[in-house]
Amino acid sequence: MLKISKFGGSSLATGDQVRQVCDIITADPTRRIIVVSAPGKRHSDDIKVTDLLIAAASQRLMGKIGASECAEAIERYRNIATELELPTGIVESIAHDFTERLEDSTENADLYMDTMKAGGEDNCARLIAQVLQTRGVEAHYVNPKDAGLLLSDEPGNAHALPEAYNRLRNLKERPGITIFPGFFGYSNEGHIVTFSRGGSDITGAILASAVRAEVYENFTDVDSVFAANPFLVENPAPISELTYREMRELSYAGFSVFHDEALEPVYRAMVPVHIRNTNNPKSAGTLIVPECNTRETPVVGIAAMSNVCCVYLSKYLMNRQIGFGRRLLQILEAEKISFEHVPSGIDNMSVIIREDNLPVDKEKRVVEKIRQTLAPEDVSVERGLSLIMVVGEGMQHTVGVAARATSALAKSDVNIEIINQGSNEVSMMFGVKSTDMDIAVQALYKEFFDGHNS
Ligand code: ASP
Repeated sequence: MLKISKFGGSSLATGDQVRQVCDIITADPTRRIIVVSAPGKRHSDDIKVTDLLIAAASQRLMGKIGASECAEAIERYRNIATELELPTGIVESIAHDFTERLEDSTENADLYMDTMKAGGEDNCARLIAQVLQTRGVEAHYVNPKDAGLLLSDEPGNAHALPEAYNRLRNLKERPGITIFPGFFGYSNEGHIVTFSRGGSDITGAILASAVRAEVYENFTDVDSVFAANPFLVENPAPISELTYREMRELSYAGFSVFHDEALEPVYRAMVPVHIRNTNNPKSAGTLIVPECNTRETPVVGIAAMSNVCCVYLSKYLMNRQIGFGRRLLQILEAEKISFEHVPSGIDNMSVIIREDNLPVDKEKRVVEKIRQTLAPEDVSVERGLSLIMVVGEGMQHTVGVAARATSALAKSDVNIEIINQGSNEVSMMFGVKSTDMDIAVQALYKEFFDGHNS
């Protein structure tokens, strides 16, 4: 039996938390490969180590020094080491490493930024290995390059190359407990590259898939995944089991508890994911599995994401024009804009895009190109929208879910701007004005979960 256990930043933010993490690791001899994030926030207005490192790197890229942000990051490790009464040597070597990174060449700004960002996880893994060693446990830090975590050459947004999986398989044979830093790997050219933010979840998933772990434990700071955002709905229902597809839909649309890109590797290898709470390891958590046959309710969760916009086009007889959709999407592709959904009618098409993918200058260029190339009667961009996703495998076999959802929204006076049912029938999407988002989530939650049963 082999488990991969990943600990998120909030589980590693203080000496006390690190102690708790080490207790969890040593409590189960099958926890042999551990993935760690960088120390996260200690309280709500704290700064994550990764953000301090990004700030330091940004300073240097602007021709300044960045030393104070870097010193603040080092201080975080010093505090943890002091709390745990570790020998001072470890902090000195961490400080040395950060200083070297900070002073590295900035010739390629993206690679420089990734080298800095990766320092948070890399040094945290070294520190955890040391804490375990001082407890007399055989634990070894393993560098992702030596282990073979090869990533695409896409700084800040890399993905694993297929050959990485074979190489990483050998991790199983290593003696003792392997402490593996999350969030980064190496490109074929030997450069450090990171995943997107929150990417330590992806590292854990890749390792779990490569070694065919029995389970991928993802330790975070909540007891389980909840059916709705606890900031929007009071005391939402905990979810005990979810399918990979459901979790992907929910994560993609705003459930931040697990990175949506971390699902593909575990899904491919059919490794179950167990979301657990570091501060309450006895709680049952949430299990993410291939199929979930016991649930009797059609909807499992309601997610929402704001800051979305919609490019809307109408053209009479659009349905007769072969290639209209392709040409529209080509305009977006040429501007490197990724889109979320493309709901369409006979004479109109809309493209839903995250607002940060369509800044105002790009919007102007895109609208102009659309006018020139497609000559629509109307083209406009609506900003300030939110997408609400109603998610559940059970919707495939249940009549009336859309009717219940739309009438719940109508009763709450929420105007639905866009509706789209995912072709896999695991999710239904409603686009509403962002000012209506909270009320829409609350109305849908009440409809499907009131009294915690739908
Ligand atoms: N430390 C990185 C971040 O803050 C990655 C992670 O925590 O998973 O995004």
